[in-house]
Amino acid sequence: KVRVRFAPSPTGPLHIGGVRTALYNYLFAKQHGGDFILRIEDTDSQRFVPGAEEYIIEALTWLGLNFDEGTHVGGAYGPYRQSDRKDIYRKYVDQLLEKGAAYIAFDTPEELEQKRQEVENFQYDASTRNQMRNSLTLSNDEVQSLIANGTNYVVRFKIEPNEDVAVNDLIRGKVVINSSELDDKVLYKSADKLPTYHLANIVDDHLMEITHVIRGEEWLPSAPLHVLLYRAFGWADTMPQFSHLSLLLKPDGKGKLSKRDGDRLGFPVFPLEWKDPKSGEISSGYRESGYLPEAVVNFLALLGWNPGNDQELMSIDELIKVFNIEKCSRSGAKFDFEKGKWFNHQYIQSASNEVIARYFEKYLLQEGIHSQPDYVEKVVGLVKERVSLLPELWGQSSFFFVAPSAYDEKTVKKRWKEETPAQLTELGEVLSGISDFSSENQETIVKKWIEDKGYHLGNIMNAFRLAIVGESKGPHMFDITATIGKEETLSRLKTAVS
Ligand code: GLU
Repeated sequence: KVRVRFAPSPTGPLHIGGVRTALYNYLFAKQHGGDFILRIEDTDSQRFVPGAEEYIIEALTWLGLNFDEGTHVGGAYGPYRQSDRKDIYRKYVDQLLEKGAAYIAFDTPEELEQKRQEVENFQYDASTRNQMRNSLTLSNDEVQSLIANGTNYVVRFKIEPNEDVAVNDLIRGKVVINSSELDDKVLYKSADKLPTYHLANIVDDHLMEITHVIRGEEWLPSAPLHVLLYRAFGWADTMPQFSHLSLLLKPDGKGKLSKRDGDRLGFPVFPLEWKDPKSGEISSGYRESGYLPEAVVNFLALLGWNPGNDQELMSIDELIKVFNIEKCSRSGAKFDFEKGKWFNHQYIQSASNEVIARYFEKYLLQEGIHSQPDYVEKVVGLVKERVSLLPELWGQSSFFFVAPSAYDEKTVKKRWKEETPAQLTELGEVLSGISDFSSENQETIVKKWIEDKGYHLGNIMNAFRLAIVGESKGPHMFDITATIGKEETLSRLKTAVS
């Protein structure tokens, strides 16, 4: 059975690139009838940020990427938070020590720094480990007494040099790295009794029976080390298949999209708004900016993958059917924010008025407006084609809920003529005599009246709009008056001429 995991470290809010990684894992799992697992990799206590785990869960839940197992839903392979698995790892560290695949090193940070000063491009590996203070150079008695004295140590992976290590990547094919390029990675630190990312990651992927590892390109350089770890444990034949996703690039393609790019360039790079617990600084999120989760999913799915034709609008169910991990691009994907907006516009159009109205009601409440659900739906139907982001609904439709409190000066200068007040008063009389106040009926009657009187159609209609809307925008004029109703229309006309 296919089992994939999304394994974020709770070091801050989930970046949009991380969301894409989670999405690709989800699509892959679901198209194979497999399991999608959330594992929290929090062994680096220095970088732990409170609230990050909750944020990650909330963000992915908002997007509809539901986990089969995880910290928040449980499962048969738990616990799913690495800090709750502390006791599991030590046993595996000892296994590697017993096999001679790892060794204990006592070098202090100062000693390591000194070495870096002395030796150009210093790397702790086969060429240098014999000059360092570790269980390979010290006698067994010395090692035991150092440990007994409570000296801090780390356990390092002993990498044999000059071996070509191949990683079979579903996206990139065979990637070969020579083991001499790798250093003897720290796997465990006695100071906090915690494994490092590399050890915990491999042990957990093995114990959780993960079949496919789909993660960001930044982990590709670690993959050969991971392959060697699987071999050292004797788990090579159940090693997961790797796929390393290309980076998301800045909109101009120059460099990696960073967490800081978002608000600097004027768009969110986080799924939800995030308030930094230390600085209090707020970064904007897709949800709060007025995106529909379905649009974000569709937009992200196409950053680094495409279905091989020019189809762009795809629901999550369609994506599950056609997604192909092997067709993911090897080069970085430019983050085209305008395209994201386009997707949202499309999803707002295809969503029912009812769905959009429920979103809109939250914004209306902020404006102090409580309106009938079916009225809000009607308004949404009239204005949604002008909207790309949900908060724009208010700007496009406020006049359906409140009479204009001022009239746009430019429009007044252009459209308000000497004869306008008298004409609008007359128009009010015409309208007040109409009993079927439907848009079509009003239009027929008003246009006939204008024609009979020999008035200028444009002048009347522009002044009419100014009186009802306050400016020269908005949907079809008689759709507006039919929606706000006769009484409100007449009252606005009266206010405008007085
Ligand atoms: N904890 C790692 C991260 O934050 C996971 C990498 C992996 O998926 O192996 O990206």
